[in-house]
Amino acid sequence: MAKFNWRALERKWQKKWAWAKVDQTDPDARRPKYFVTAAYPYPNSPQHIGHGRTYTIADANARFHRMRGYNTLYPMGFHYTGTPLYAMAKRLSQNDPEIVKTFTEVYRIPRQKFDQLKEPKRMAEYFRNDIKKGMIEIGYSIDWRREFTTIDHMYNRFIQWHFRWLNQHGYITQGTHPVAWCPNDKNPVGTVDTQGDIEPEIGESSLIKFRQGEIVYPTATLRPETVFGVTNLWVNPYDRYVQARVDEEQWIISLEAVATLEHQNHRISVEREFFGEELLWKTLTNPVTQAIIPILPATFVEPDNGSGIVMSVPGHAPYDYQALTELKANPSLTAHEKEVIEKVEPISVIALEGFSESPAADIVKKYGITDQKDPRLVEATKDLYSKEFHGGIMNENAKPYAGQPVEQARQAIIQELTNAGKLAKLYEILNKPITCRCGTRVVVHIVDNQWFINYGDPEWKKQAHLCLDQMAILPEERRNEFNYALDWLKERACARKVGLGTRLPWDPDWIIEALSDSVIYMAYYILAKYLAKDWVSFKRFEKSPEDLPDAFFDYIFLGEGSAEAITRETRISKRIIEGIRKEFTYFYPVDMRHSAKDLVSNHLSMYIFHHTALFPRNLWPKGIVANGFVLMERAKMSKSLENIIPLRQAIAKFGADPLRIGVLSTAELNQDTDFSESLVATIQERLVNLVAQSRKLGRRGVSGKSSSSTLDRWMLSRLNSAAQTATTAMEKLRVREVINTVLYQIENDTAWYQRRLGPRKKSHEGRDRVLKQVFDLKARMIAPLAPHVAEEMWASLGNKGMVAKADWPEFDESLHDSAAEAAESIIRQTLDDTAEILRATGLTPKRITYYSAAPWKWRIYQKALDMAVKSQTDQGNFIKDVMSEPELRSIGKPAADFAAKAIMQATQMKEELRNSRVGLGLKEMEILEDAKDFFSREFKAEIQVGQEGEKTVNDPKDRARSAEPFRPAIFVE
Ligand SMILES: [Zn+2]
Repeated sequence: MAKFNWRALERKWQKKWAWAKVDQTDPDARRPKYFVTAAYPYPNSPQHIGHGRTYTIADANARFHRMRGYNTLYPMGFHYTGTPLYAMAKRLSQNDPEIVKTFTEVYRIPRQKFDQLKEPKRMAEYFRNDIKKGMIEIGYSIDWRREFTTIDHMYNRFIQWHFRWLNQHGYITQGTHPVAWCPNDKNPVGTVDTQGDIEPEIGESSLIKFRQGEIVYPTATLRPETVFGVTNLWVNPYDRYVQARVDEEQWIISLEAVATLEHQNHRISVEREFFGEELLWKTLTNPVTQAIIPILPATFVEPDNGSGIVMSVPGHAPYDYQALTELKANPSLTAHEKEVIEKVEPISVIALEGFSESPAADIVKKYGITDQKDPRLVEATKDLYSKEFHGGIMNENAKPYAGQPVEQARQAIIQELTNAGKLAKLYEILNKPITCRCGTRVVVHIVDNQWFINYGDPEWKKQAHLCLDQMAILPEERRNEFNYALDWLKERACARKVGLGTRLPWDPDWIIEALSDSVIYMAYYILAKYLAKDWVSFKRFEKSPEDLPDAFFDYIFLGEGSAEAITRETRISKRIIEGIRKEFTYFYPVDMRHSAKDLVSNHLSMYIFHHTALFPRNLWPKGIVANGFVLMERAKMSKSLENIIPLRQAIAKFGADPLRIGVLSTAELNQDTDFSESLVATIQERLVNLVAQSRKLGRRGVSGKSSSSTLDRWMLSRLNSAAQTATTAMEKLRVREVINTVLYQIENDTAWYQRRLGPRKKSHEGRDRVLKQVFDLKARMIAPLAPHVAEEMWASLGNKGMVAKADWPEFDESLHDSAAEAAESIIRQTLDDTAEILRATGLTPKRITYYSAAPWKWRIYQKALDMAVKSQTDQGNFIKDVMSEPELRSIGKPAADFAAKAIMQATQMKEELRNSRVGLGLKEMEILEDAKDFFSREFKAEIQVGQEGEKTVNDPKDRARSAEPFRPAIFVE
């Protein structure tokens, strides 16, 4: 195969699209609209193949809807907000070797450019440019007239309007809440601020205060109800601990816990520092049971986990059980220590069905764990925790709470101990460790007077659920994650002290953070077009956007007030103001929002929340696609693995269309897809082949004669059902199925069609007409996925206009032909059966005879199908019924035997196949006669066709009697 010039093909069509303004979309009252958006990119690095998946699916969706007659809008902006650009620019300024290496070796940015990238905004401009070029080069049908960035003045004004609105309507709270925090930046952190883009999850645990006289030993636990089962405390003898004044008390805690507590608004002064060893074998009092318990050594205790002191519940905590078991077996204990430890026995406090008195012992045995450093203890702990939480009942040892379910007892104990001053709250990062982009470990911090968006408001949650319930979620499997996220979201810090973005309008020390300034920007695409188009009208407000009144946005997005009043106030013409409003109500709501699955729990859920708050119900979002990631040769993509390929490099290397299909073809939406070079090579070959065949067909022209052979009808019937499959799949964005149908299934059918026809001859003039129809349809069906190749096919076949503007193929009932499909399946079956006989016998055939089943067999077979369709499948009755027909009875036992066989086949057959065969008046003899040339060509032998039971038929070996309907008997000589 000669090297195919992908770049030339892409440039050619991209120019034509631009010239024809295929991607530019304005309101059109005569057509229904479709509004697609994808999460706007963050320009602190180039996009890579992984990003390509989301935007390619969105583009395929946009192109599909355009072809189905929708006036489709697919715009794009750029998200500059937040700290990632700062962090990246800073690391580059410091010549961070990792960043320098990534920039030079992976991104291939010349070092001379580094100076200009050290300033965050210039870095953003650089990558924005690069990303935009990539999106054009891969052929996304984006309306670039609507492009904006989140630091544009007018965008800032839009966000301030939105936040003032939220504040006025009670969605913003100010308060003291725990937030995930970077101690280095002294700033809250969210998903976009962390390495690996992880959203920190904050959990609340209980610090239970054990006492030794006046000295408090606080232990952090998520299961305060197990305090009745505490047998001892654990400390790590090799870690540093301190005695400190904490608020009004004397506490013993690990050195690391000092910072943890300080971040959570405790006043602390450290008085003494020492090793944990010093605490061992002392005794103290359980604040709930008043039991006297010892402090024992354990190495699994982490000093940065909670207070660095752990309450031990060996009856119900696998770690504690394992540590105790090891300690009891320790040969180096003194006699006193032995005496102490022998008295320590697990105490059961929760009854759990299917478990003994000590569920922890059971589960440690089940997992086969023998070491307290075994990482499987994490899983064992989660496993037991969940079982006891959902099915456990407090027993007699937890006296006041005996008989209560675990969850209920937990709440009651927290309440009781808090009231008695025996319990304090401690917040922890549940999914730790999480690292800030600056390299510092993320902690929980309590900020006074921080600004929050109150996603915890139950009324708001109800609205969000209402919206979700009406939305299309693709893949549908993801819906539960949304339900969970809507429930889970609570007050969320919405402003930061540093970073790019919009200042909080009423408290300008704060900058609105990235996940909060990106929840309703889809509406801004409408306005952005006018800012560019009618820039003269807005020039004044570009310079001092603060002069643009809220009434402007109120009118455009909420329909409040009047255009006249705004014109008077702003001098922007009424025509423009009304135009924007009209365009907004035309395109809104968003029909489909695209993103990768990692944004479900944050961005996509907040997007739902905010739309339900600000907009009336008819403008709520209608659908979300959250696709899986892209793996690189089965491995996760990461900078450290150096397996990231920037998108533009990949386009240059593989071609836009092979790349588009490469990131979509190995998995359905919910799964991660695997990208591999060998796969792309196969795709390239298939696409090149499509172009070559289309060109050949185009050059040949199509003769006038229309065709109607069974084979032609079969091809068109198959093509038609492929169109139906592809349409249903595209509607659900099951793109892998579309690719399989277009690139593989139709391809196989076409190959069979050509093979059946044999060498090109005058006698089959309909061939090219049929093939042209096949390729026309293929070009249209592949157009959303491989738009450049599709245009080239479309034009080569001699079509006018662009395939991007052509109609998506409709299912045509009149082309469906069960008889033709059944006929071809007989030929295929017979071909396979013959080949199998030749293979098994090793014969080189001179003559092959096919015997079609006798008419009485067809009669029985049809009766059997009828009966199976009605699902009356009593074999005895069926045979009786058959034998009641005099004609069939006269055949005797063979008829009864065949009836038994036929009814079994008919009931076991796939429903679809059965339905297609019912009532088919098939002339199998004719079908076989017609295919004689074909079989003769395939097997290089003379072919005879006869019917079972006809006296004239040559049947020396008595083969004909094994013939069955749809399965002729075969005799090879
Ligand atoms: Zn940081």
